[in-house]
Amino acid sequence: MLILVINAGSSSLKYQLIETKNENVLAKGNCERIGMDGGIVTHKTPDGKKYELKVDMPTHTDAFMHVKDMLLTGEGAVVKNLSEIKAVGHRIVQGGAIFSESVIVDDKVIEGLESLIDLAPLHNAAHVQGIRASIDVFGKDIPQVVVFDTAFHSTMPEEAYMFGVPYEYYEKYKVRRYGFHGTSHRFVSARCLELMGRSKKPEGTKIISCHLGNGSSITAIKDGKVIDTSMGLTPLDGFIMGTRSGTLDPSVVTYIAKKDNLNPDQLSDLFNKKSGLLGISGVSSDDRDVTAAAKAGNKRAILAHKMFRYQVTKFIGGYVAALGGVDAIIFTAGIGENQAEHREAICENLAYLGVEIDKKANAEACGKEAKISTRKSKVKVYVIPTNEELVIARDTERLVKDLVKK
Ligand code: ADP
Repeated sequence: MLILVINAGSSSLKYQLIETKNENVLAKGNCERIGMDGGIVTHKTPDGKKYELKVDMPTHTDAFMHVKDMLLTGEGAVVKNLSEIKAVGHRIVQGGAIFSESVIVDDKVIEGLESLIDLAPLHNAAHVQGIRASIDVFGKDIPQVVVFDTAFHSTMPEEAYMFGVPYEYYEKYKVRRYGFHGTSHRFVSARCLELMGRSKKPEGTKIISCHLGNGSSITAIKDGKVIDTSMGLTPLDGFIMGTRSGTLDPSVVTYIAKKDNLNPDQLSDLFNKKSGLLGISGVSSDDRDVTAAAKAGNKRAILAHKMFRYQVTKFIGGYVAALGGVDAIIFTAGIGENQAEHREAICENLAYLGVEIDKKANAEACGKEAKISTRKSKVKVYVIPTNEELVIARDTERLVKDLVKK
C-alpha cells in the first residue's frame, strides 16, 4: 500500500512516500520556509536524483500542493494518479494523556490535538495545520492517521512520570513527564527483542534504548513496555543535546532570569536553542563539528564531549537500577548509529555491569545494524538504525487496511 508520511513543522513539511509491501521509499522531500520569503521544495528519488523548486508557500496548504505536484508531475514524479496514494500518516509530537496509540483522524481527534497545543505550542499547532492542509489537498476520501511521539511512553508508572511540584499543577495543567522519540524507541526495541529471540515473549526482558541525535533521549523498557524515559513535559529534559541543556537545577533558570532580566520566551530560547553541545563548545550543535574541534584540541569541545558521555552513562546507570538489571543496550539515531568513539567510551564506563565492547565490530558499525558487544559480555549492545517514517507507514496501513479495501 502506498502511504504518504508527513512531518509538519511550523515552517517546514517533510514527506516520504512509502510502499509498505516491500517497505521501499519511492520519494522523499522537504518544503522549507513555509510562511516566509525564500521558500524551497526539495524532492529526492531513490536513483539519487534531487529536484529543487524555489517558490514561496504562504500556508501549509500551498506546501501540500507542491508535494502533490512533485509526486505526480515533472521529472521526479513517482505516481501517475493521486488515487494510488491510499492514506496519509502524520507524525505528532504531543499526544498528552489523551492518545496512547495511533488513530485515524476524525473531528474528535483534531479537537483532542488542539486541546494539547498549550503543551507543545511549536509542534502540535503545526501538526494540526498539516492535517487540515492534507485534507484540503488530498480530499476527505483519503484517510489520515496520527502517530504520536509520546504514545510508546504511556505505560510509565506514575512514580516515573510525576514531578515533585504541587499536585495541583498536574491536575490543573497536566504537568508531568510525557517522553518523546517514542516511535523510534518502539521501533528499535522491537527489533532488539527480535534479535534477542524474545519478540513473542518479552516478559522478563530489560532493555535500555539510547536515541542520540540532535535531540536525544534514553528509555528504560521492561517486558517490552516503557517504565521511564529521560525527556519530560517537553523534549528539553534529559541530558545535553545539540542545542538543548537537558536537566538542570531549576534555580539555574530563576537565577539567570533575574540576573539577565529574561522573560519565559527568552529563557526557553536560551535552554532550547543556545545550550547543549553548542552552548558548551561554542563551536556547533552538530556533533561532527564538535568532534573535529575536540580532535584539534579545542578544550570546550572536549568538555562538551566529556559531559555528553558522562550524562549518558549516568542515565543508563539510573535505568539499570530502575529496571533491576539490563539485558541489552541499544544505540540509535545520528550520533548513536554513527559515532563509534562515543559508544566505545560510554560502554567502557559501563564495564562494572559486565558490558564488554567488541572494538572492531563497534568501529565498523556505522549506520547499519550490528551487535557491538563481545560474546562474553554480560549485556548485549546493539547499533540499530531507527526508522520513524516506516513505523508511521506501518501503523497507518494497519489502521486503514479495512477502510481502503471497501
Ligand atoms: P535529528 O534529531 O535532527 O533527527 P539525527 O538523528 O539526524 O538528528 O542526528 C544528528 C546528529 O548526528 C548530529 O549531531 C550529527 O553530527 C550526528 N551524525 C549524523 N551522521 C553522522 C556521522 N556519519 N558520523 C558522526 N555523527 C553523525
